[in-house]
Amino acid sequence: MKIHILPPDLQQQIAAGEVIERPASVVKELVENALDAGAQHISVDVEHAGRQLICVTDDGAGIAPEDVPLAFERFATSKIDAPRDIEAVRTFGFRGEALPSIAAVSRVTLLTRPHGAILGTCARAEAGVLGRIDESGAPVGTRVEVRDLFFNTPARRKFLRSLRVELSHLVGMFTTFAVAFPEVGWSLTCDARPLFELTASNHHDRLLALYGQEVTAELESFDGEGLSGRVWGSFRRDSTTGRRSYRLFVNRRPVRSASLYRAAQAALGGIGMLLLFVEIAPEVVDINVHPAKREVRFRDEEGVYDLVFSTLTRMMARNSSRVGGVAEDEALYAPSTAGVGEMFQAIGQIEQTFLLASAQGHLYMVDQHAAHERVLYDQLLEAIARGIPPRRALIAPQVLVLASRELQLMEDHRQTLEACGFTFDQFGPGAVAIRALPEAVPVSQAESLCRRLVQRLRDNVAEQRSETLPQMLACLAAVKAGMVLSLPEQQQLLRDWGKSAQLHACAHNRPVYFRLSLDEVRRKIGRTAGGCEQ
Ligand code: ADP
Ligand code: MG
Repeated sequence: MKIHILPPDLQQQIAAGEVIERPASVVKELVENALDAGAQHISVDVEHAGRQLICVTDDGAGIAPEDVPLAFERFATSKIDAPRDIEAVRTFGFRGEALPSIAAVSRVTLLTRPHGAILGTCARAEAGVLGRIDESGAPVGTRVEVRDLFFNTPARRKFLRSLRVELSHLVGMFTTFAVAFPEVGWSLTCDARPLFELTASNHHDRLLALYGQEVTAELESFDGEGLSGRVWGSFRRDSTTGRRSYRLFVNRRPVRSASLYRAAQAALGGIGMLLLFVEIAPEVVDINVHPAKREVRFRDEEGVYDLVFSTLTRMMARNSSRVGGVAEDEALYAPSTAGVGEMFQAIGQIEQTFLLASAQGHLYMVDQHAAHERVLYDQLLEAIARGIPPRRALIAPQVLVLASRELQLMEDHRQTLEACGFTFDQFGPGAVAIRALPEAVPVSQAESLCRRLVQRLRDNVAEQRSETLPQMLACLAAVKAGMVLSLPEQQQLLRDWGKSAQLHACAHNRPVYFRLSLDEVRRKIGRTAGGCEQ
C-alpha cells in the first residue's frame, strides 16, 4: 500500500483517542477548562454514567462570539503563545486539544457568554464537524453538553466498561478535583439524582464534606519544605481493608508520577489513603509528557523523591508514638531522655528472649528483639531525616545473585535503600554488588540480611502488607529471640533502648516490655511495715 496522508476526520479520531478514553476523561477536560476560566461554581450532570450525556456548567469567563469557532480547532488555545510559555504554564490547558477531541467522538453543544456581553453564543458540533453557530440568550459562563460519546467510533464504545465502573471513574475524577479546589463550589448529579453538593469552603471542610467525620478524624497531616518545594497533605492508615488509595497533586493538578508514588509507597508501606500535594515552581515540572497531562516529570526527580519520602517518614515516626505501647510509662522518660539509658541495671537473660533489668523501683522484662528493633529503627529514621545515613563501606563488595524480579525490586527501592545507607550497583546480568551497608547492619550478616530483605520486599508486595523499608531493616538487623547476649551486651542494649523517646513500642508498634513495681512485689509477698523485717 502506498503511503498517504489520512483524511482529516480520521486524523481527528486518532488524536481524540489519546485524550478521550472514557466518560471520566471528558469530565476531566471540561472541568479543567472551567477552572482555567476562573469558575466559582462548577456543575457536572451526567446520564447513563456519561455515555448518554455529560454536561459541565461553569460561571467562569465565557468565550467571546468570534472565538467560539476557534475553540473547536485543534491547537487553538487562549492560554499560551510562545514555546517558553509551556515551561511555566500555570493553567490546566495549553494544548488546545480538548474541545476538538471531544467533538470528534460525540455530539457537542456549547453555550457561552462572557462578562459584559448582552447575548451569548450557541454552537454545535458533531463527529468533528462544526455545525450552526447562533446568537443566544445565556447566563454568564459556559455550558458544554456532550451527548452520545463514541457514537461514531464503535471500537472505542466497545471498550467502555459497565455503567458501574464508568460511573466510579467519573465520580473519582470529580472528587479529585473537588479535593484540590475547595474554594470552588461543586455539584454532581447522575440521572438527575444529586450525588454531591459541595459549597465553596476550605481544605478541612471539603474533606469533611467528602469523606465524613469518621474518616477525617483519622487523617494525620504532614507538611515539609525543602529546596525543591513544599509537600503537604493527609494520610489515613488503613490496615483493616488493606486498600490503597493515593491521590497525588502537583500544583493542584491531579497527576501520576512514578517518583512521587514510589516515595509514598516506601515511606508508608503502601496501605492507606493518601492525599499528597506538591507545590513546586512550574518551571521545574514537565507536564507535557502525556496527552491527557496525567503524568508529570520533575527536573530534579531525586530531590522531590527525597522531600516526599523524608516528610512522610517523619510523620510516621511522630505518630507511631501515639499508638500502642504502654502509654502510662511515657511520662517517666519523657522529660529528659539524656542519661535515662543509664538507669537500667541488667540482671540477666530469660530463655534467651527477655532481658531482666531493674530501674527506679521497678523490675523490667524487656523483649530483646523488640528493644533492639526500636533502637535501630530510630537510628534509621534519624539518618533518613538528616539525609546522611551512616554507612559502612565493604572492603570487598558483597555480590548477590538474584532473580530478575528481585533485581527489579532492588532497583524499585534504590532511593530508599540508599537513604538507609546501602550503596549497590548492577553486577553483570543477574547480580548486584553491595558496596556499603547501613551502620546498623553487622558486616558478617551482609549477605543473609540482603537476601532476607529482598524476600521481605517480595512478600510485602505479594501479601499487600504495609511494612516500610526502615521497619523491615530494623527488624532484620535486630538481635533475635534465642540469641545469647553477654551481660555487657545486655547492658549496652538497655542503655541504647532507654534513650529512645518511644521505648514502649517496637518499630511495628508492638509493646516492648512489661514491668512490675517493687512496691507491688512487696505487697504480694507481705513485706509490709510490722511484718517480719529481715
Ligand atoms: P486548552 O484548554 O488546551 O486551551 P481546549 O480545547 O480545552 O484547549 O479549549 C480551547 C479554548 O476554548 C481554551 O483555550 C479557552 O480559551 C476556550 N474555552 C474552553 N472551555 C472554556 C470554558 N469553560 N470557559 C471559557 N473558555 C473556554
Ligand atoms: Mg482545555
